Amino acid sequence: MKGFIKVQELSFKLQPIILFLLIPYICNTNKQIMTTKILIIGACGQIGTELTTKLRSIYGNDNVIASDIRKLNNDIVNNGIFEVINALDYNQIEHLIEQYQITDVYLMAALLSATAEKNPAFAWDLNMNSLFHVLNLAKAKKIKKIFWPSSIAVFGPTTPRENTPQYTIMEPTTVYGISKQTGERWCEYYHHQYGVDVRSVRYPGLISWTTEPGGGTTDYAVDIYHKALKNGSFECFLSEETKLPMMFMDDAIRATVEIMQVAPEALKIRSSYNLAGISFTPNEIVNEIKKHIPDFTVSYKPDFRQKIADSWPASIDDSCAREDWGWNHQFEMDSMTKVMLENLKK
Ligand code: NAD
Repeated sequence: MKGFIKVQELSFKLQPIILFLLIPYICNTNKQIMTTKILIIGACGQIGTELTTKLRSIYGNDNVIASDIRKLNNDIVNNGIFEVINALDYNQIEHLIEQYQITDVYLMAALLSATAEKNPAFAWDLNMNSLFHVLNLAKAKKIKKIFWPSSIAVFGPTTPRENTPQYTIMEPTTVYGISKQTGERWCEYYHHQYGVDVRSVRYPGLISWTTEPGGGTTDYAVDIYHKALKNGSFECFLSEETKLPMMFMDDAIRATVEIMQVAPEALKIRSSYNLAGISFTPNEIVNEIKKHIPDFTVSYKPDFRQKIADSWPASIDDSCAREDWGWNHQFEMDSMTKVMLENLKK
């Protein structure tokens, strides 16, 4: 009994010491949550606009710094911290990181598939060197985490088109696809060699109503809603049976936030995860829109983007993302069409 009391007394006396020893750990955990400071590069684009709004709502306006080479008159610029920056200028990025004590960088600046084909050398320069700048800043321990988006454009005509697996033949034929595939290899390399915490998904074509798309091959699937409401007719630059993987923007933003919040051990893939939502043809989306606008008419006039689309998958197997970090899409073609038309009508 005496011995028991002594142990009790001892543990009572040790309590303040244990608490004292735990203080740095408790403070550090809280500090990590409190001190996530985000820099988004390319924040005025189709994805950046919605991503910035979402991240500001999660982490607070003062902890999310939006930046872009263009300063638009929009909510991103007017409702929070915004800086003009050139993603090709290492010193500018480094300066912003130091100024705002940035921990996480989301690199959204890039030349997209259709625009890149018109200026391959510049597309290569922008898409690769902006990535190297951010990877090297993480290697130098100036930032903790990177999000960098890849694309279904990493696949090519020799890739199995239906249910394209995570690991498969990858022979992209566009400069955009080549830059994304190379970027994936470098992300994985920096993770394995230097422990850089870089996270990535291969976005399919993204559909949103807030911002115009930025020059991709799947842009028709956004424009079609605008023209259906405005003109009641649409000329499509892809043929009516061209099936491509697509996703509603809300799902894409959620995927981006989720992969950045998951514990690092959960992520087995450090190149880029396949990500899927819905796959459809122009003909299928037309029929869905016709349920709301019965007189809607469409003509088809495929241009240079048809060749790009023909080299891409029709549907994607994203089971690795579903298994590793619990990814699940929510929007189908009917729910997406309803939201698109409702919001564009306003
Ligand atoms: P976007 O073209 O709409 O936006 C890119 C933004 O980057 C623009 O606001 C542009 O002004 C900015 N930018 C361009 N050059 C810059 C520079 N030198 N410095 C700073 N900012 C610069 O593109 P998005 O659709 O928002 O795509 C973002 C990322 O997601 C890209 O890497 C793209 O490849 C990838 N992605 C997009 C889609 C899609 O359907 N939108 C699909 C797959 C992958």
